[in-house]
Amino acid sequence: MMSLAVTARDWLLVRYSWLRDRFKREPTNAAKRVLVNEILSIQVLSAALFGGLAVASLYWGGQWVLQDNYGRWALQWTEELNELGSPLYLSDDEEARIRLESFVERYPEIDRVSYFSKDGIALFSVDNRDELEPVQDLTVNKLDDAVAVIGERRPYVMNSGVLNPRQFEIIAPVWTESIVDDGLFDFDAVALESETKTELLGFVGIHLDFVIFHDRLLANIKGAILILLVLLIAFAAYGRRALQRALSSISDLQEPIRELAKGNLGVKFEPAEHREISDIVEALETTASALSERDAKLLEMANHDSLTGLFNRRRFTEELKKEIISVMRKGHTSALLFVDLDQFKYINDACGHPAGDRLIRKVADELDRSVRRDDVVARFGGDEFAILVRHTDVHGATSSAETILSNMRRMAHIEDERVFHVHCSIGMAMITGDNLHYDEVINQADIACRESKSAGRNRLSLFEYAADGKEKDTADVGWMNRLRKAVDNDEFELRFQPINRIHTGETTHHEVLIRLRGDDNNVVSPDAFLPSAMRFGLMTEIDFWMIENAAKAHSEFSVPARNLRFSINLSANAFENDDLVAHIEACFERHNVEPKDIIFEITESLAIRHPVHVERQIAALRDMGCRLALDDFGTGYSSFSYLQKLQFDYIKIDGTFVEDLVNNPVDQKMIKLIAEIGAEAGMETIAEYVQDAESLALLEELGVDLAQGFFVGRPSKTPTHKSTPISLDSRRMRAPTFPHTS
Ligand code: GH3
Ligand code: MG
Repeated sequence: MMSLAVTARDWLLVRYSWLRDRFKREPTNAAKRVLVNEILSIQVLSAALFGGLAVASLYWGGQWVLQDNYGRWALQWTEELNELGSPLYLSDDEEARIRLESFVERYPEIDRVSYFSKDGIALFSVDNRDELEPVQDLTVNKLDDAVAVIGERRPYVMNSGVLNPRQFEIIAPVWTESIVDDGLFDFDAVALESETKTELLGFVGIHLDFVIFHDRLLANIKGAILILLVLLIAFAAYGRRALQRALSSISDLQEPIRELAKGNLGVKFEPAEHREISDIVEALETTASALSERDAKLLEMANHDSLTGLFNRRRFTEELKKEIISVMRKGHTSALLFVDLDQFKYINDACGHPAGDRLIRKVADELDRSVRRDDVVARFGGDEFAILVRHTDVHGATSSAETILSNMRRMAHIEDERVFHVHCSIGMAMITGDNLHYDEVINQADIACRESKSAGRNRLSLFEYAADGKEKDTADVGWMNRLRKAVDNDEFELRFQPINRIHTGETTHHEVLIRLRGDDNNVVSPDAFLPSAMRFGLMTEIDFWMIENAAKAHSEFSVPARNLRFSINLSANAFENDDLVAHIEACFERHNVEPKDIIFEITESLAIRHPVHVERQIAALRDMGCRLALDDFGTGYSSFSYLQKLQFDYIKIDGTFVEDLVNNPVDQKMIKLIAEIGAEAGMETIAEYVQDAESLALLEELGVDLAQGFFVGRPSKTPTHKSTPISLDSRRMRAPTFPHTS
């Protein structure tokens, strides 16, 4: 029993919620209100209302006109009947009676004409209808009223609504007028009036029934109503059709609008007949064309770099993907060049960001001009560009890259009346059947570009696979983890390369160099890992490791007999750290190192890039007693005025001037100039890359003070002091002039 009750209640609940849902539901399309019907019903209702009002006014107006006319007819008939009836009072004039009868016959609205005596006694009557009651004598009231109107402008009494509103009764006095004759014919008009004699004969009563007119009016009105109704229906039908047609053009817009919403901007809108809908169509067309324009702009932005107008990375990647597919299908080869401007930050620092932007635009134009029409140039961002050289082999791509390098070398940019030259480093990766992923190709070209950078910039490097099929060691894929591990586990090692005074052949100090001990116990040179360390932000840690371990080595290798001096490289990142000087000081104290025994080397580009920042730290290091060397001098953009400003103790002439010194007179001139200016500014000059005795001799001739290189001494695990041969002149001059002290 219980379960039955529960089931019934559940059923009711289910039904209730179903019903509630059903009524809550949104009306379906068919159940929605129809605009046409609503407009039409309003129109029809208002037309019916106005039609009704018009018919009513017609009826009442007609009535009023009839009433007005009745009055006029009453006057006319009264006069005529007065004339017709008066002879009958005087004599029983048969002729007058006949005239009277024919008069009454002529007017169907006259029911009856009755004549009464002066006392209101009914004398006789002429009836126009048969079923009329016999004539009654006039009541005293009527008689009084009728006597009262004698001589009035309207000489009758008209009572309406005898039996119904269309029936009237007129009672008028019948009298004769006679002029008192004086026997002469020349009547005096004034006298005439006073002499007129009026004699009341009796009364005439006219019984009128205008039902016939009223019926006619009603019939007309009915006809009008009928015509009105027919017209109303006809107009409603026409209006409905016209409205439907007009609104159907709005419904027709549904599909194109839906297409528009889907993004089909080429959608066509049918021209509309009606102005309002035409306006909507026009607005939609304007919307569609505005959307097309916006789409085009977005597409342009999605594909192009806003600064240079070149393709951006996204679009370039697409082109590269297509090229890789084409290479796969057709079997040809293509190349990817990765271009990064050299020392571009200098332009920004020196002339400001807008000037840098102008130069980037100029470079973009130059790159675009330097390649073939089919090749694709893109800006990857910053000062990086990528070029896809289609259908080419290594030679073709190399020659394209060389063209770019030489065009860039020739390109001069003038800013604030200063001339700038900007070079670039290019990395090249061939697109062959082997490297089929675009990311891989870009990565290879990027790696090769960084090789160009570390090899001295302003050059081209080709990405090459190692013999075992793996990428070259220089690839920084995986370098991040390896370097992190090396920093954490102390896996770096130090090497010491001697720097000798050319004049005396004696070692003055050692440059401390860093090496990485590889997994297979191979020693990896810094050229291979420093660019990656820089990219991954590990440079500061490596710099600090160098300072710590160089100081440690200094105290380890120091012997009382020989003054040991180290030269340590500091990267730009080290100078970004405000604690650098404090750290160095603490480290020297820990290892008992005299600051005067340490020379810090910083590169020319760093010195120029952050002059104020670096200047402050250099000053602090000098105050401590350390010395400073300007590394890689001659490769950057520094003017000699910087040399004085930064106050260095040594200038290290870049190895590129020394490598081929013997055969290159320009390099010789350059070195001579640097040496002279160094001497003038009180700085000693050091030449790197000294590989043979001939170069050493020439350097001495050119006025260079110190030499470093394989000929002087290779980097070794311990600082060695090996003398270099000195020239005859030096030897001759040596004993008396330069007693060796250091
Ligand atoms: P490197 O020879 O090692 O390439 O040195 P770099 O000075 O060119 O340095 P790097 O390529 O690492 O950095 C590029 C610099 O270009 C960094 C930033 O100051 C500058 N840069 C990046 N984007 C823009 C840009 O849109 N406009 C301007 N004016 N400068 C930019
Ligand atoms: Mg750059």
